[in-house]
Parts: sequence; structure tokens; C-alpha cells
Amino acid sequence: MTINNYQFQGKRAIVRVDFNVPLDEQGQITDDTRIRGALPTLQKILNDGGSLILMSHMGKPKGKVSEKLSLKQIIPNLSQALGRPVQFAPDCAKAQAQAAALKAGEVLLLENLRFYPEEEGKPVGIDKADPAYEDAKKAMKSAQKEFAKTLASYADCYVNDAFGTAHRKHASTAVIADYFDADNKMLGLLMEKEVQAVENVLNNIRRPFTAIMGGSKVSTKIGIITNLLNKVDNLIICGGMTYTFVKAMGGQIGTSICEDEQLQLALDILDQAKQKGVQLVLASDTVVADRFAEDANTQVCPSNAIPDNWMGMDIGPDSCVLFAKYIESAKTILWNGPAGVFEMDKFAKGSEAIAHSIAKATSNGAYSLIGGGDSVACINKLHLADQVSYISTGGGALLEAIEGKILPGVAAING
Ligand code: AMP
Repeated sequence: MTINNYQFQGKRAIVRVDFNVPLDEQGQITDDTRIRGALPTLQKILNDGGSLILMSHMGKPKGKVSEKLSLKQIIPNLSQALGRPVQFAPDCAKAQAQAAALKAGEVLLLENLRFYPEEEGKPVGIDKADPAYEDAKKAMKSAQKEFAKTLASYADCYVNDAFGTAHRKHASTAVIADYFDADNKMLGLLMEKEVQAVENVLNNIRRPFTAIMGGSKVSTKIGIITNLLNKVDNLIICGGMTYTFVKAMGGQIGTSICEDEQLQLALDILDQAKQKGVQLVLASDTVVADRFAEDANTQVCPSNAIPDNWMGMDIGPDSCVLFAKYIESAKTILWNGPAGVFEMDKFAKGSEAIAHSIAKATSNGAYSLIGGGDSVACINKLHLADQVSYISTGGGALLEAIEGKILPGVAAING
């Protein structure tokens, strides 16, 4: 079933949203992007004459009630965003009566699902090495099913719009779907967009396809790099990862960040790229610093000739031009991870140049997908969000999807 085909009139919809918003010390929301992201789905259901039971996690309460992580705190913002009152169920597993009393157009928010360990389905308070662990795990799995069944009993249909947790097989993101038949479960509008965005870079590729992978470590990106080598025409590798590659090829990297245990892996990736006809592009020059600090002394040098006691902090000006060539001629672009220590303005120029090149390519008709907190922050800082094709809301979920893994939250609905 799809959300646009479903008749919500007179129906109660239980919707898994991602309301895991950041709060300050006073419990005020500091960034409501996630609430706004869910609005198209929520408004569609309400406008069609349905009622809403909203469920989400917030933070990591580890199966215990924590006032600081109560979803009650978001009610003023949510109510304002929806333009109507929001009722609250202080115990998400005991909301039957409130759910049953909902009338068309009404909204009920359930308390943080993760106050129950059943949501994540992992046994708490028992070590994996404990001989009783396997039994505890089995018991928890069946408790998780019961918990999911209770949540399902509140509603006529289930909508999953929480892409950020789609890579988790939790009660509310996947297990609950077993209690609805195929005609009464569907992805929300945000999820549909995310799934389509991944589809555009993995399967509906318009060529040339340039992926830009940055960030600090090769080891955390290896799954993605390996999958992308089967898809892309050009793979730009930047950020701290660069120096593992440069060292593996025999270059001098000074005190730059490097994973010595991944040198062979870097050589294997270079070899695979060659065999698959992928152009693997590394920074030709680097901005180096004598300290890991904003006010460090800096200079630009070739990436493979970094002086002793200097460290690579950003790509240099020649690399910006080199990368622009591959980005601006592309028809499909994926960007994940910064080109340097972009948190310090002095070393953000490379990431900013990449962002501008992506915006330019997009205005020339390319499809561009930006994922991962740092790259998204960079695009937002430069006010380029409306000049790229899609900014993913999912960190880990997006990365797993690009690795080619099936997301449990999507599989539970699409089969
Ligand atoms: P990741 O979490 O692996 O995506 O990496 C993001 C982090 O990589 C950011 O916090 C950057 O500051 C960091 N980073 C990028 N380039 C470098 C570099 N040349 N040296 C050290 N850290 C870097």
C-alpha cells in the first residue's frame, strides 16, 4: 500500500516518526528539522479525515523512564506545527483507551518508546558473556513481539516515516508491521523520498556518477566505498582518509591522521578501482598546520610531501579545482563526509568548495544527494540547501542503504 492510495477517512493511523530532536538544558527544542520533516505525512492523514497516534524514541534512556527524555517536552512545538492540540499518553504501552477515543483530526502522542527495553529488544542488565544471556535474549524477543502487538492494537493502519531508525529492527520500526496486512501498512512521504533518493544513486544512475567520500577514517566507510566502486565513474576520496591512501602509496604525510592497520586495504581499494575502470581521485595538494588548532600556522604543500611535524587539515586550492572538474561534469552526485576539519573555519574551505561545485552541477541538471551530519551542516551553513536535489535526514540508515544493505524498516513494509 502507498500513503497516497490509502483511504484515511475515519481511520486511526499509528505513525512511527523520528522526533528525536535536540533539546537544551531547559528542555527547549534547539532544532525542529525532524518535526518539520514529518509534517507532510501527518498533515496528509489529518486532511484526509484520519486521526494520528504518533510514536517515537528520544535519546538513549536504555529501557528506563527518564524525565529528561520525555516526549512531553515537544508538545508545544508539535502542536504549533500541526495547528491543533496534541494529547499525550504518558505510558506508551497503556494507551488503548486514549487511542480508542480518538476522533477524526485528533492527535495522540505516545511517550518515548525506549522507556521500554522491548522497543529495542535487547536484554538489559545482563552481560553477553553470562551463560543466561541467550535465554534472556529469547525472552526479550518474545516480549518485543507482545509490545509491538500492543502498539499495533491502537490503530487501523501503520505508517513508518522514521528513516533515521529504518536500519534498526525495533518494535516500532519493523516488528509492528507483522500485525498489519499489506493493505494497511505503508511508508510515509519522508521515507518514500529517502528510499527514492537512495534508488537514484544506486540504481537509476545518470552518468557520469561522481561520489565524494570524506571524513576521518577509511575503516568506517569501507562498506560504502566497496559498494560504490561497483556504481560510480569517479570516486573522490578526501578528508582524513586521504593520508592512509597517500602513505600506502609511499608518500610523506607528516603527523596527519592515518590508520596504519588499513594501509593494505587502501592499496586494495586503489587496485579494485583500477580493475573496475573507476577514476579514484585524491587531493593533489593539502593545507597543512603545525597544530590541530584554528590559530595554527598553515601552508599548502603536495599531499604526498607533507613536512615532518605538520598535519593535513584540508584539501588545497589545486584540489578544489581538480574536484570541481569531476563534480561539475557529473549527472549523479553523492556526497558524504567533509574534506577537512571543517569545524574550524580556516579548514572548511575545501568542504565549502565541494558544496558550491555540487550546487553548480545541480543547477546544470545533475541529481545530487547529500548525506551525513557534517556534509549537511556544511550545505546548510552556506545556505545551499535549496540548490541541491536532496538532503537525507538519515545518518546511519543512509550509509547502510548505500552500502547496499536492506533496511529492516523498509523491508517490513515492502517485503
Ligand atoms: P566521519 O565521522 O568519519 O564522517 O568524519 C568526520 C570528521 O572528520 C569531522 O569531524 C572532521 O573534522 C574530520 N576530519 C576531516 N578531515 C580531517 C583531517 N584532515 N584530519 C583530521 N580530521 C579530519
